[in-house]
Order: sequence, then C-alpha cells, then structure tokens
Amino acid sequence: MMENWTPHLCLKSIYDLPCQEFWEKGYRILFCDLDNTVSAYDKPFPEEKFLRWVENRKNEGWEIYILSNNGEERVKNFCEEAKLTGFSNLYKPLPFRTRQIAKELGASPNRIVFIGDQVFTDVWLANQMGFLSVLVDPVAKGDLLKTKINRKLEGLIRKGFVYGKNKSW
Ligand SMILES: [Mg+2]
Repeated sequence: MMENWTPHLCLKSIYDLPCQEFWEKGYRILFCDLDNTVSAYDKPFPEEKFLRWVENRKNEGWEIYILSNNGEERVKNFCEEAKLTGFSNLYKPLPFRTRQIAKELGASPNRIVFIGDQVFTDVWLANQMGFLSVLVDPVAKGDLLKTKINRKLEGLIRKGFVYGKNKSW
C-alpha cells in the first residue's frame, strides 16, 4: 500500500520542480492540482509568481493543465486568469476522469508529471496512472473540511518521506 502513496519526488513547492531534468527524461506535460498546490485554497485568482512560472514553462515547450477535485466555477475562474486549460470534479484518486483526459489530449503516461499537495488524492492517482508523481507542501495552512480529515492521516505518512527523490525514475 505504501508504494501507491509514495511520491517519486517530494518538494517544498512547484517552484522547485526540476523541469529541465524532467524534459531530458522525456516528460512534456505538467498536470497540476489546484488548491494548495498552485494557489492557496481560498484565493480565487493566481498570484503573479505563478503566472510568470507558467509563462516560462510554456516558452520552454511544456503543456500545463489544471486537474482539480474542486467545482467548475473555482477551476474556471482560476484558469481563465492563468490562461490554462483546467478540468474540474476529477474525483481523484479515482482514475476514470484523468484517464479520459489524458486520452483526449493524446498524452501517454510516461510523458506526464503530476504535481499535487495530497497523498491520498494526487499521489495515489498519479501512481495508479503511471505518471511521475510529485508531492509538494501545501501552499496555505487552511483547508476545506474534507481535506482537513485527510491531512491527519497524511501527516503520519509524510513523516516517512524525504525532500528529493523517494523512488527512482
Ligand atoms: Mg490540493
């Protein structure tokens, strides 16, 4: 079970992603969770730093998509501002929606890096899908209620992870 929940890479934030190393290994697509991964859960719009990061990655040739369990309004508002394509109501860690999205994008799993702040949704999903899984520290301390419950369990598991590589890739 632990294998399913262990990320390939553990980082403090998305700004630490070694995108050049990913690129050299053949990855081309970044699937990013929204709440507490690329933005605080209660901030409707992206911060300036994120917008610059997106622009730089796009210039390097990366495709970036937002994949969120949150509702349509939240994802739409954020993504319009960030000029990104977003997908809402993902039901992570269930893989059916994500599988459909990857198929529609014509993206093979070994080209996708999935970045998220939760073990039981993001990392578990990414590992099931055969993506490279990256776990980041949550942007904000606060969370939606259902997330708060997950965090308790997650805290125990996170203690076993180190910053940097946790599995070979
Ligand atoms: Mg999240």
